[in-house]
Amino acid sequence: MRWVFFLLDSADTMETNAMNRDDRRVRIFDTTLRDGEQCPGASMSPREKLEIARQLARLGVDIIEAGFPVISAGDFGAVETIARQVRGPIIAGLARCVPKDIDAAGAAVKPAGRRGRIHVFLATSKIHREYKLGKAEDEILRLAVEGVRRARQWVEDVEFSPEDASRTERDFLVQVCRAVVAAGAHTVNIPDTVGYATPDEFGALIRYLYEQVPEFARGEAIISVHCHNDLGLAVANSLAAVRNGARQVECTVNGIGERAGNAALEEIVMALKTRADAFGRLTTRIRTRELLKTSRLVSRLSGMIVQRNKAIVGENAFAHSSGIHQDGILKRRETYEIMDPRDVGWGQTELPLTKHSGRHAVSARLRHLGFRLSDRDLDEIFAKFKDIGDKKKFVYDEDLIALVEGRLDDVPPTWTLDYLGFSSGNHAIPTATVRLRRTTPTSVVQEAGTGDGPVHAAIRAIDRIVGLEGELLEYGLRAVSQGTDALGEVVVKVRFDRGEPVVGRASSTDVVEASARAYLSAVNRYLYGRAATSRRTRRRNGNGTPL
Ligand code: MN
Repeated sequence: MRWVFFLLDSADTMETNAMNRDDRRVRIFDTTLRDGEQCPGASMSPREKLEIARQLARLGVDIIEAGFPVISAGDFGAVETIARQVRGPIIAGLARCVPKDIDAAGAAVKPAGRRGRIHVFLATSKIHREYKLGKAEDEILRLAVEGVRRARQWVEDVEFSPEDASRTERDFLVQVCRAVVAAGAHTVNIPDTVGYATPDEFGALIRYLYEQVPEFARGEAIISVHCHNDLGLAVANSLAAVRNGARQVECTVNGIGERAGNAALEEIVMALKTRADAFGRLTTRIRTRELLKTSRLVSRLSGMIVQRNKAIVGENAFAHSSGIHQDGILKRRETYEIMDPRDVGWGQTELPLTKHSGRHAVSARLRHLGFRLSDRDLDEIFAKFKDIGDKKKFVYDEDLIALVEGRLDDVPPTWTLDYLGFSSGNHAIPTATVRLRRTTPTSVVQEAGTGDGPVHAAIRAIDRIVGLEGELLEYGLRAVSQGTDALGEVVVKVRFDRGEPVVGRASSTDVVEASARAYLSAVNRYLYGRAATSRRTRRRNGNGTPL
């Protein structure tokens, strides 16, 4: 027995020692499911969040911030499910410095056991203290300490964020850091909440905190940073911070997030790796070959399309168009490429499947792609696979992924597409006939519509049947794989009744059908959300946007 305790003790000591400034490892704290989900129109279903969390675990992130449990029953459920089902990373829940938030976060991360973390935040800057909270410095200090102590009653692993830290008076920030570490926080996150900092001053701030807060130098807590991209400096600021001693970076896949977004995970990781010489040979645990897949999953499920020229994961990130560059690359890749595209997941094409591939082959490929499906889900995917196999020669991994992701929408459909017919041409008025089946009460309704094109005509017919008038804010069409027979994937963002935008998506070998199905999935999500809202009152954060 003594032996066991001794081992545990020594492991704890090692972890504490590993927290000091000389530690070479940067912890990657992914907040795609919390801050990333905060951007308008990016809301995801619990099943989709779980799928992203599983992929984040495969990617090798250290911490997943899974949500803000007190916000709604849906957020609570998503965090709890991820805490129960996702193995590997620490699972964090966000909480304001108030008991009901902390208790909700504590209960939600409980299934993760020792890997549960509560992330408590409270604004500390003068402008937030005076105008938002109406509280004096000593009151803020008291609340911060009480919040951390309460969180420690639930979990060992507590993180504290002084919101708007980059605009907080330095001496007060030092007081807050010392107080929360003394109260039991092992991580203190310094957010640049409004994206105001510049790399030089943000780096200097982190260095100052190390020098002034002896608890950091002693390894009692590590410094984290959380940067926003309002001036396009989120990644640069994060890197300046790690150069000066921060050992946790909060970021999101594709840089999605509030306003202009958060620091992009893939850019931070690849900058640290590619320019290890410039960043003090710091390391992360990220399996970089999973980056592209993760980016695509998040893009599809959040409806946030990745710009073509986005670093690392954009379509053009490794596309060399000038003849001189192409010639150089062919002679030696390093002439114009600073990274090997395969290192971030490009060009890993497997042999495509065909309609002759059996259920076992499809199941094996899906497992290889990281999907664990129930027999029932697999049956359904396999039937759809056969369907596609009849229409196109090869079924690529991307096609399979699109099929699986189509299944992740756990919103029970109010309406399903029964029939779609359309005609168009340069001399005809585009016309579409749509027949929809209503699930409860059961009915079948048919309508026709005309429009500027067949997609528009089909949408108008759907609007007539469901009695809504959707405002199409965004429409994106992408060939999922290669060849003229590729699956077309359509992502739409639609606003109904002047509400929050709703994302819908679908794929098909016929782009008009994919469009109609995508629009219909947005309709179903809207109707489901509207019904859910009337069932429970959503409590949105009364203090505005966190962090
Ligand atoms: Mn934020």
